[in-house]
Amino acid sequence: MSFARVRCGCCIAAIAILAVPVLSARAADKKSKEIVAETPSYYGPQPAAENIDLTMYARIREEGFKHSHVMEFGGALADGIGPRLTGSPNMAKANAWTRDTLTKIGLENAHLEDWGDFGMGWQQINTWVRMVSPDPEPLWAQAAPWSPATNGPVSGDAIYVDLKDVKDLDKYKGKLAGKIVLLGAMRPTPDITEPLFHRYTTEELAEMETYPTGEPRPGAPTIQQRMADRARLTELRAAALKMMTEEHVAAIITPTRDGGKGGGTGIIFDDNGANLVRNAQVKENAVTIPNAVMMIEHYNRLARLLENHVPVTLEVNIETKFTGDHEHGFDTVAEIPGNDPKLKNQVVMVGGHLDSWISGTGATDNGAGAIVAMEAVRILKALGVQPKRTIRIALWSGEEEGLYGSQGYVKQHFGTFAEPKTPEPASVPSFMRQHGALTTTKEWETLDAYYNLDNGTGKVRGVYTQENWAIAPIFKQWIAPLADLGVSTISYRNTGGTDHLSFDAVGLPGFQYIQDPMDYETRVHHSDMDTYDRLHESDLEQAAVVEAIFLYNTSEREAMMPRKPFPHPEKEMELTAPIPGIYPNAVEPSDKGKSGTVANP
Ligand SMILES: [Zn+2]
Repeated sequence: MSFARVRCGCCIAAIAILAVPVLSARAADKKSKEIVAETPSYYGPQPAAENIDLTMYARIREEGFKHSHVMEFGGALADGIGPRLTGSPNMAKANAWTRDTLTKIGLENAHLEDWGDFGMGWQQINTWVRMVSPDPEPLWAQAAPWSPATNGPVSGDAIYVDLKDVKDLDKYKGKLAGKIVLLGAMRPTPDITEPLFHRYTTEELAEMETYPTGEPRPGAPTIQQRMADRARLTELRAAALKMMTEEHVAAIITPTRDGGKGGGTGIIFDDNGANLVRNAQVKENAVTIPNAVMMIEHYNRLARLLENHVPVTLEVNIETKFTGDHEHGFDTVAEIPGNDPKLKNQVVMVGGHLDSWISGTGATDNGAGAIVAMEAVRILKALGVQPKRTIRIALWSGEEEGLYGSQGYVKQHFGTFAEPKTPEPASVPSFMRQHGALTTTKEWETLDAYYNLDNGTGKVRGVYTQENWAIAPIFKQWIAPLADLGVSTISYRNTGGTDHLSFDAVGLPGFQYIQDPMDYETRVHHSDMDTYDRLHESDLEQAAVVEAIFLYNTSEREAMMPRKPFPHPEKEMELTAPIPGIYPNAVEPSDKGKSGTVANP
């Protein structure tokens, strides 16, 4: 990062238009050329026709489909290393393995970048729960992330605590010492009437190409409602935890949530939702009672027995290990250096997050995105491509807890937001926070585009342009020769939830591909089903071929990729404020509220 300054794209354009007429014809010609040269190509007009190298498309396909190594990467990462919770020893192994493997396949400058203090290092060693009486049964559970250990197996009577309100806690006062608490309501296991596995139909893809301008769907909860629900649950859990700590509860077991279309039956989702506090990795928030999340029907059986006054005794063994209070997070970064003297300092990026949750091996979330990015750069290296611009792969960590790795990278390399004028409470999640003005670096000017893959193992069906209207015709031309691979859709919509957002937030072109949904949302995402067997070889090969083509096309273009207008979050309030005095004869209330003045007589 050399120096920082605030840039305004629209100001540059205005100067270019206004300056020309006052100069003599010859001088004007010279001057306008200079000015045009000063206007960065990402804010300038784009050529109508893309210069596409179909021979390179063919070579990339050949390498990607005939000599793929994507499943070797998948096996080494998912089976060889396993789950990769940020801050854990496995995450460190994955950072080292990706750095060394990228070097092995010929990339340069492979290294790890520290994005800062993440929180506690933690590892699950072993978790088991069994019913001792009335009927011995092995029960299926896993430790919630950052749960303390039980210090060997503990047994105790189970108690079912279904809280609707903080007041409900009163009836359990004095009754919890040494108990194993089942915390949270039973839930039904719905009939599965639709397939849990799905590929996009032509109709669904066509719908994604339309840009919704109507009202939000009736019945869909607003962000405010969701925030209020979340705040209520946080408050309830905090009160429950306080009381259970004071009463020396032996362990807490929570029911696992459902997946889409009822797919959560018989499996365990173990993520933020299983945690009893927010930001459970932060030492100050540490939960001191061992806690685990249980497969739903096992949980329901215990709860039904207790509701019917049958005493239940459980034995719980949660074996976990803390490896530090302030573990730093690292991103793996490596490059294929650019070769064009004018363009080599510009950078095209590709990536996905390398971290995962813990109950499976993180094979598809987001092993898939990481290995596809690795395979895409391997293909280009194997073909001996000497790109004009530098191609850089970045594999993030801390994504699952809040896009920390990519946000940290963007902050260190490209730009930062000022603190908002009115500070917001810590309960507001980072993605919903208001920002002050954006300050960008010199490096911000050289980042051409970032491509991300993080929606599971499904093949690429198109791209979300993230409301970058100028880029759609470019992507359309790029994907036209890929129709036979099922890549056909350009959606103008925003898609959220992953690391391209960190780039998009600072006005850099960051994109996530449209991928076939498969069984990602119903069963696999964050569950113990996220394992090697869920990786679909031919889908991953296809995705790597598409990603390699996008990287190549970006690196070889004459102009940089078009950007959205420079973000001005600090002006949002002003820009959306009502125009004053727009109603004829309106009486504006005076400061003291006593008498009014006619605003627009
Ligand atoms: Zn993910």
